[in-house]
Formats: sequence, structure tokens, C-alpha cells
Amino acid sequence: MSIEFSMFAFAQRHFDEIAEALNLSPAMRAFLRVPMRALHFTIPVQMDDGSYRTFQAFRVQHNDARGPAKGGVRFHPNETIDSLRALAMWMTWNTALVDLPLGGGKGGVICDPQKLSERELERLSRGYMRGAAYFIGADKDVPAPDVFVTPQIMAWMLDEFEVIHGRHVPGIVTGKPVSLFGSLGRGDATARGGIYVAGEAGRILGMDLHGATAAIQGYGNVGVFVHQLGCDLLGLKVVAVSDGRGGAHNPRGLPFEKLLAWKEESRSVINFPDADQITNAELLELPVDVLFPAALENVITGDNAPRIKAKMIVGLANGPITPEADDILNANGVIVLPNCLCNAGGMTVSYFEQAQNAYNFYWSREQVTALLKDHMTRAFRAVHEFAQAQRVPYQLAGCMLAVRRVAEAVTLRGWVR
Ligand code: NAD
Repeated sequence: MSIEFSMFAFAQRHFDEIAEALNLSPAMRAFLRVPMRALHFTIPVQMDDGSYRTFQAFRVQHNDARGPAKGGVRFHPNETIDSLRALAMWMTWNTALVDLPLGGGKGGVICDPQKLSERELERLSRGYMRGAAYFIGADKDVPAPDVFVTPQIMAWMLDEFEVIHGRHVPGIVTGKPVSLFGSLGRGDATARGGIYVAGEAGRILGMDLHGATAAIQGYGNVGVFVHQLGCDLLGLKVVAVSDGRGGAHNPRGLPFEKLLAWKEESRSVINFPDADQITNAELLELPVDVLFPAALENVITGDNAPRIKAKMIVGLANGPITPEADDILNANGVIVLPNCLCNAGGMTVSYFEQAQNAYNFYWSREQVTALLKDHMTRAFRAVHEFAQAQRVPYQLAGCMLAVRRVAEAVTLRGWVR
């Protein structure tokens, strides 16, 4: 008999450890370890050849004590309600950690969008909104794009919602195109948020990052902007980058514009002139000042953690460091910044999009980035103070602070003590 891995069971175990560290009451633990609501529905779609298919769809609201649920919608063939429950729970902690007035949710459709035509994808997206139209709302639950979901899909969902309700409600979804009530500054927000957190950590810890060396694993949406903004805003010297095919390393530094042009032309960073080839495993173990894992989950494990030589790790991917590795890194004196804060910049600009939609008044890119900096640096300072007071590492401090904020809101509402 095979026992399948349950992401939700993993998230609950993680929550149990935090609840124990916070000494939460049994009633609070029982309440917070499960979602408050979940919707499971079907979407019938007429395909281009005239046939009909029925898709399974979900929306999970883990907790909305601190504000409307917030979280992505994923279109993926392997989607499950189990993973959505876990991701919705993590969204509750993430929004609380940045101190946004939001809760946590997640949704998904079991489908393979790469096998659908554009018209089929539009019917499916509109069908998702039809099925969820009375479950979500700008003051209830606000979906955003996630795996294989684009700004165009969010635009179709917005339109469907407005047709159903007969009024303009642009804040019903975020991640919309800028020309249809989206926010400026969303494109580089995740990388920018991580760079602001790294800069604030350097400042507080007395670590001079100007001229400090950095390595970036993953050279996609996030990694490219980490390279650019790391140089522009912090004065980092990026000596190594990698993608799924391998990496490039030059201890004298990799020039951003030249490398980006190379990547765009050859579809990879490998074979970049004036750089040595390096594997992804070697990149992680380079003796750099700052390491940015910006590709995949679980890349730093109990196996390679003892060989990590970076002084600071800024995890932008989701869950790049396993709990076992985190313990080893902490014991070795590596500064591991809280992952769910480091990669919260995109989520924070999504919240700014909601705020602009609510006011029907739109901000300049400069206003967005200034507010993002303010939110990220304040959030890091709160984690730092909590970590010092509780004498725990940043990663644990971030989780404890987030869960404590949610539990406090639940108590104040009188739901559970
Ligand atoms: P992306 O698909 O644009 O880029 C991923 C990069 O990782 C690519 O360069 C790819 O070649 C590389 N890669 C793939 N397999 C690899 C491997 N085995 N070793 C090294 N590199 C590998 O994705 P992205 O949007 O840049 O997101 C990167 C990570 O950040 C993901 O974990 C994502 O969940 C997380 N994240 C992204 C955002 C966002 O706003 N894009 C927000 C929060 C978290």
C-alpha cells in the first residue's frame, strides 16, 4: 500500500509546531488548523469541436479574521483540494506577517491550460467566476493569478463577475492588466520586496552589502529582477546565476544587461562568455555573502546545508529550505531571512491594487515602490524584534508572529479563545 504525501498534513504539522511555541489554547489550535470554508464545484465547458467537458474547481478560504481572504487561482492538471487547503493556510500566515488587512485563500481548477485553445480557456475562466461569484467578493475573498493563470485570465474573470453582479467591482480580483485596473510596479515586485528585506537586514545587522558578492539560483521572472535591483539598489556584485540548464560564474561579477541579452538570445544563461560553467549544486555552495534561491522548493536540504558558505540567504522561491536544513544553517551561523516575508512583495502589490481599485484612484510606479519599501522594511523590523525577544531564528519568528496576529484577531472577534 502506498501512502500519498499530503501537503495539507505537512502544513498542519508545521502549524502545530508554531502553535506549541506560542502556547495557543487547544480550541484555537483546532480552529486554525482547518479552513473556515471551501467550495467544490464543476465547470461545464463547450470545447471548440462542439463536445462538452466538465472540470473540477475549488476555492478555499482558510481564515478571514484579519480581512477578506486573499490568494491565487491555479490552473493545473495535478491540482488537488489537499494542496489548496495547505496553500490557503500559508496565505493566512503570509498576509498576517506583512501586516496586511487580509486573510488567506487559494483556488484552482484541475485542467491543462496548455492543451486548451484561447476560446476554451476564456470559457473555463468565466465558468470559474460563475461558479464562485457568490462565494468571493472584494470584501470577502479576492483571487489573484497563480500557476498558469495570466493577467488576461483575471480580466475575463473580472468581466464575468461584473456581468453577473451588474456593476463595476475592479477589486474583485488582482493581477489584472495595468490597462484594466491593474497596478503599476507588479512586474518586479517580488524581487524588489526581497531586495528591500535583504537591505534592511543588512542595515540592522551591520552587514555592508555594497560590493558584497551574491549568487542567484533561477533566472526567470524573479531572478532577473533580483540581479538588476540587487545591483541598482544595494550595490551587490552578482558573481553567479543559474537556470534549469546550469549556471554561469565569474568572481569579478556578471554584467546585468549583457547577461540578460545573452539569456534572451540563447534561452539560457549557460555558455555566457567571460564566465565559467557551474552546476546548480555548485552555485548553492559558493562562498558568497548573499544567496538568493529563486527557482524551486527544497533545494537546500539536510544533505547540502552543511556545505552552504553564504553569510545570508534570501529565499524568494516558495520553501527553498527544508526544516532540517534550516536547523543546520542556524547552527552554522548563516542568517536565513524569513522566506514568506522575502517573497511577499508580489502579494503586497496585489493588496495595493485592491486599495487603488477601492478608491478608484491610481498611483505612480514611484508611489507603489515607496509604499512597498515601507511595508517590507517595517515587516522585517517586526520579525527582527520578535526574534530577539523570543530568542528564535528569523524563519520561526516570522511564522510565530504571523500566527499570533491571526489568533489575536480571532480572540478579539470572540470566535475562539
Ligand atoms: P520562472 O518560471 O519565471 O523562473 C524560474 C527559473 O528557475 C527559470 O530560470 C528556470 O530555468 C529556473 N529553474 C528551473 N529548474 C531549475 C533547477 N532545477 N535549478 C535551477 N534553476 C531552475 O518563475 P518565477 O516567477 O521567477 O518564480 C521563481 C520562484 O519564486 C518560484 O518558486 C515561485 O513559486 C516563487 N515566487 C514567485 C513569485 C512571482 O511573483 N513570480 C512570487 C512568490 C514566489
